[in-house]
Amino acid sequence: MLSQVHEVCSQRTDGEVATYIPQLAYAPPEAFGIGLATLDGHVYETGDSRLGFSIQSVSKPFVYALALADHGLEGVLQRIGVEPTGDPFNSITVDEETARPFNPMVNAGAIVAASLVKGTGVEEKFERIRNALSAFAGRELTLDERVYNSENETGDRNRAIAYFMRTMGALEGDVDEVLEVYFKQCSLLVTARDLAVMSATLSNGGRNPVTGEVAIEPEHVSRVLAVMSTCGMYDYAGEWMYRVGLPAKSGVSGGIAVALSQRLGIGLYSPRLDRRGNSVRGIAACEELSQRLGLHVLRAD
Ligand code: GLN
Repeated sequence: MLSQVHEVCSQRTDGEVATYIPQLAYAPPEAFGIGLATLDGHVYETGDSRLGFSIQSVSKPFVYALALADHGLEGVLQRIGVEPTGDPFNSITVDEETARPFNPMVNAGAIVAASLVKGTGVEEKFERIRNALSAFAGRELTLDERVYNSENETGDRNRAIAYFMRTMGALEGDVDEVLEVYFKQCSLLVTARDLAVMSATLSNGGRNPVTGEVAIEPEHVSRVLAVMSTCGMYDYAGEWMYRVGLPAKSGVSGGIAVALSQRLGIGLYSPRLDRRGNSVRGIAACEELSQRLGLHVLRAD
């Protein structure tokens, strides 16, 4: 069935590979992989499911999970809101009343989440993030240096967001250090298979179904899935919930992680994006899978 969905959705050739981070422009536009992991530890895969790409914004829910582990629900809620914005992912806004970014799935909120990760200095913080995401994936993830350098060289929009947040009192600490951690987290290399296992770990209450390792305490899982449901697909989050109906997070390299609590995780990769920055084939495949498998979380039957 995964192969059928892959074949049907391969017909979509619209969309554009992201170029605003120059290194992303080298992604093979036709690449398309799907992985699906069940809670008994089975991983089903088709297409380019083992092709590496930088995780980009799909890192956000997992780093948010780490911030929750480090500071608890109330501690994190004081610093990052949980309201969808309807704005693009890179918009330079904070909730002025509370001096918090609106949610952890847009860049502003993700930069604050990265700043909340405990550790001294960039290396220790980034290592904690790399280890946490590796526990979700069930294998050791590594940094794509070229993507990191490329993003660092061209990351002025994120610098603007971070410095703006500092003037608002929303971001504390050394801004350049926080940005370095954030750019590095976005440059971790993953595959569609990894995203399937990472999502299935969330679906499995925080325990990786392949390795058995606990990546996040169960008490935090529903919060991570909640922000994915309401804010995970940028300004497409509403229509996504309407059509597909699953907690998910997308990224500009073309990855999507999808988690259905108590059932499964899906990972997708296809680098051509629609105008909101979501993978065209990834969305199409999720719609197909949701319909064929009856996965909408609000289904009535
Ligand atoms: N690293 C990217 C950025 O901050 C992540 C954005 C994304 O994937 N939407 O611009």
